[in-house]
Amino acid sequence: MPEIACPQKCTFCDQRQISGQSVFPDNNEIIQKIESHLASYTRSDREVEIAFFGGTFTGLPLKRQENYLSIASKYLINGLIHGIRISTRPDYIDTENLQLLKHFGVTTIELGAQSLDDEVLIRCERGHTVMQVEKAATLIKQYGFNLGLQMMIGLPDDSFEKSIATAKKIILLGAKETRIYPCLVIKNTILAQEFETGIFKPLNLENAVSLSAELWLLFEKAGVKVIRLGLHRSEELNEGAMIAGPYHISFKELVMSHIWKNVFLTGIADLHSESIHIQVHPKELNFAVGYLAGNKAMLMKSFQKVRFSVDDSLVGRDFHYTLS
Ligand code: SF4
Repeated sequence: MPEIACPQKCTFCDQRQISGQSVFPDNNEIIQKIESHLASYTRSDREVEIAFFGGTFTGLPLKRQENYLSIASKYLINGLIHGIRISTRPDYIDTENLQLLKHFGVTTIELGAQSLDDEVLIRCERGHTVMQVEKAATLIKQYGFNLGLQMMIGLPDDSFEKSIATAKKIILLGAKETRIYPCLVIKNTILAQEFETGIFKPLNLENAVSLSAELWLLFEKAGVKVIRLGLHRSEELNEGAMIAGPYHISFKELVMSHIWKNVFLTGIADLHSESIHIQVHPKELNFAVGYLAGNKAMLMKSFQKVRFSVDDSLVGRDFHYTLS
């Protein structure tokens, strides 16, 4: 959905640059997109959803919402997809629009909370308060939808502590899932002007990674699924749109590597032996070895030989090691 679907102008956002969409997609475009994606998903065990993202879905004229949802609901009724999700703003949630979404079979509503600190919200001209997020989240759960609450880090007037507090509130509000987006400076935004005049300084990559790692662990412990870490350049960020900020093509991998680095630092890095053999779950292997084998290089300072292998009986970030 393009920005024209959104009545707000948050200081960091130029939705045309983020979604790559500047006009409303017509029915044919939507159907073609759904059909081509369905054709590419051949595995029967996949969970497939149609998602209306970008802009503010419940801020669209009612007829347009009904039109888009009726397309998606046919796929749901025919069993070709498992759910429909929309993203919107907290102040565009009320009983009327929740009834409409329920009627068409929407399963998940994601709210762009971004921060649960009123100072940060005001500074970013979000146009809603923390209380409005809380009210919307409660209503969404009362209506039986899955709740997603997206957050951003490194916003103007934000801090490490405020981000941790936001994550804790997201957990308390009962979100099933979240997305963590580092704030990037995008062309043609108020934030870009603030950056150019030195009023705003984005997080550096290192701090964005270590904060995201803390947040990931908090959400993981609470059972809140982090479904996205960072923007995807190809899908979500137009080439050349970004001026500054902690963007990295493998942001999630950096965060996961950082978590493993801390596991090793507290677990084995101070041991000394000629060689170490570390076993991890297969899904964790790349993260344990580290981005560009960074964790392995760190361990090579304590051991002459470092070998990794997999053991699928291990759970999560548990690992075994043998010294020789
Ligand atoms: S509410 Fe969302 S889409 Fe609208 S301007 Fe803010 S960030 Fe962009």
